[in-house]
Amino acid sequence: MRDYFDGVLAGDRSVLGRAITLIESRRPDHRQLAEELLAELLPHTGGSQRVGVTGVPGVGKSTFLDSLGGLLTARGHRVAVLAVDPTSSLSGGSILGDKTRMSKLAVDERAFIRPSPSGGSLGGVARKTREAMLLCEAAGFDVVLVETVGTGQSEVLVAGMVDFLLLLLLPGAGDELQGIKRGILELVDMVAVNKADGDSLAAAREACASYLAALRTLRAAESWRPPVLTCSAVEGSGLDELWGRVEEHRRTTSANGDREGRRRRQRLQWLRSLVEDEVLGAFRARPEVVRLLPELERQVMEGEIAPALAARRLLESVD
Ligand code: GDP
Repeated sequence: MRDYFDGVLAGDRSVLGRAITLIESRRPDHRQLAEELLAELLPHTGGSQRVGVTGVPGVGKSTFLDSLGGLLTARGHRVAVLAVDPTSSLSGGSILGDKTRMSKLAVDERAFIRPSPSGGSLGGVARKTREAMLLCEAAGFDVVLVETVGTGQSEVLVAGMVDFLLLLLLPGAGDELQGIKRGILELVDMVAVNKADGDSLAAAREACASYLAALRTLRAAESWRPPVLTCSAVEGSGLDELWGRVEEHRRTTSANGDREGRRRRQRLQWLRSLVEDEVLGAFRARPEVVRLLPELERQVMEGEIAPALAARRLLESVD
């Protein structure tokens, strides 16, 4: 415990890595130690700029994180890159947050990259990433970038743990605008059209204008109007301005109380989902439920019993 505590606080990346492994562990004794460690480190958390980055596979997320991360470490920031990969809970492997996808940042002394935890539910993956974020903050990382892919649910989970959500899009708006779930446009704090270079430059600018129009209507009532800009992760262009807007958002929302309000709501939501997870887990583990559930599920699927009645039987089987 002492070693973890001291090592994390000293900013030791290898201890930080082991501490994250500890919080990801499912062993009850590890879990208990992890909870104690988090409780002890809590006063040292909260100090980072928490930024979520999302976009479809191929939009350039890892290239972008590599470039932006490098720009920030060169300015003296310490940057952690974490990931919430929706496929990791299914496949047990993770493609996001892989060091080989961020070759410059991977060898940067001021950076820390951690792939998405694997296994368990998506909610469980997000919960562990959230705890990893707190450990990174205690270790002195003042920028935490959380990467995810556009699947709706994972974006909602990431939006629930960051101060700022950035959506990366490709040039060539038209059809794509249709494809984006409206829900995500309501969550984002900024849109950046990536790959604004070479032959794609004009298309990127066009896309930028149409996204801006869409967001203006959608988010007209809000005090922060999400900016839309272009960038090239490969060339590094536009990233300086982009980070400037993230900082502007931080200043604005710190001054008007929105930032603390958002974090307060996120903490409350986190508490609620932890309780729900625990209660549901305990319920599912009850011997009566283990015994009854498969047959009731079969009957519900076959239409032999009404779902509401099946639910009632299940709930009443437990006292
Ligand atoms: P991810 O799946 O979202 O992480 O996307 P990657 O970062 O792996 O990038 C997918 C492909 O797009 C790679 O071949 C990159 O080299 C390329 N790419 C990424 N950013 C840019 C950019 O700004 N401009 C151009 N032209 N290509 C890019």
